[in-house]
Amino acid sequence: MAERCFRGNFTQQEAIPEEAIARAVEVLRGGRLHRYNVPDGEAGEVALLEQEFAAYQGSRYCLACASGGYALHVALKAYGLAPGASVLTNAFTLSPVPGAIDNAGGRPVLVETTEDLVLDLGDLEAKIDSSGARLLLLSHMRGHQADMERLCTLLETRGIVLIEDCAHTMGAAWKGRRSGSFGLAACFSTQTYKHINSGEGGLLTSDDPDLMARAVILSGSYMLYGRHKAAPPAEAYADIALETPNYSGRMDVLRAAILRPQLRDLDRQVARWNERYRAIEALLQQSPALYLPVRPAEEGYVGSSIQFLVRELDGSGCAAFQRACRERGVALKWFGEPLPSGYTSRHDSWRYIQAQSLPVSDAILARLFDMRIPLTFSLQDCRLIAEILLECLAAFGGTCGEPAAAQ
Ligand SMILES: *Cc1c(COP(=O)(O)O)cnc(C)c1O
Repeated sequence: MAERCFRGNFTQQEAIPEEAIARAVEVLRGGRLHRYNVPDGEAGEVALLEQEFAAYQGSRYCLACASGGYALHVALKAYGLAPGASVLTNAFTLSPVPGAIDNAGGRPVLVETTEDLVLDLGDLEAKIDSSGARLLLLSHMRGHQADMERLCTLLETRGIVLIEDCAHTMGAAWKGRRSGSFGLAACFSTQTYKHINSGEGGLLTSDDPDLMARAVILSGSYMLYGRHKAAPPAEAYADIALETPNYSGRMDVLRAAILRPQLRDLDRQVARWNERYRAIEALLQQSPALYLPVRPAEEGYVGSSIQFLVRELDGSGCAAFQRACRERGVALKWFGEPLPSGYTSRHDSWRYIQAQSLPVSDAILARLFDMRIPLTFSLQDCRLIAEILLECLAAFGGTCGEPAAAQ
């Protein structure tokens, strides 16, 4: 039998909805693209997006800005991170996270990951003690959430402030409570590969008036903060407006205009992602050679990507498996690759931070694969992809055994 190949494109997102395109064209015709360039009496697309996202999150305030990484930077600065202060964060995350800590003048202290790809709470506790850090920038990397109740209890007892990086958990929840509602602030990305797409963009949410007032000024509001709809009242700015720098990084009207219809559709999209995720997961789970991170019942996730560990393969086996998949049209990222390609999620490729010993994470990343699940894939595509993965694995697994027959 000829080998089946997959012909889809793993980086192809869906088209922007027609309603968003129509609104974008209207915005362009009007020529008013700056967020504060609004006709009298109108709120403007950016302020409305902030209001709508705050309502979606159940947060008091929201600030739209230039990128997810920028939102992280502004959150850290608005919190008042002291120069040189240690910030606890995940060893397994994406480079904008340590980058934002560095940009805010902090020093990342990396915490080990578990095989379920969440923060290791035992290592967190040890590093709270050893680092003296007062802040955790928690990255829900690839949408995996730690036990948020246990984590919050630990942080509370130890007096540690939490800021959440929700780049992969927009639309997700823990026990029905929105991801991003557990800490002092949360940061989201609207970059093309996240859950709503404006090319670039970020959203920062918080219930804290002081933090949000500083964030609004930092984002470059000049003295126009009164035009925000999901921000604290004017009094909150009295003492800080002239003492807070402008780190210009606003969101423009065009991006807000195309995000608003996508936000209204987000929950439906989440359901579509999860159907696809579960179709792939169900097949991959049949292979004893693979470990798929456990998704606890409390976790309401968004399956926009899937990860799995290959139990038995060594470095050259992993490379050969990845190559075989690529030849059959299945694009996998392998976190064990010695040199980063495409993106970096390995702490040893962030050489601007102090080198740190993370043997557990290193051993996990060495066997960890990652695959995007764009919504342009049908359920049938997803099943074909999973079958190809299993076939390639059987060819390279050696000791891995045959994958069970697909149902
Ligand atoms: C994408 C991403 C970010 C930052 O988003 P940008 O909008 O690209 O700056 C932060 N954290 C994680 C885990 C991400 O994947």
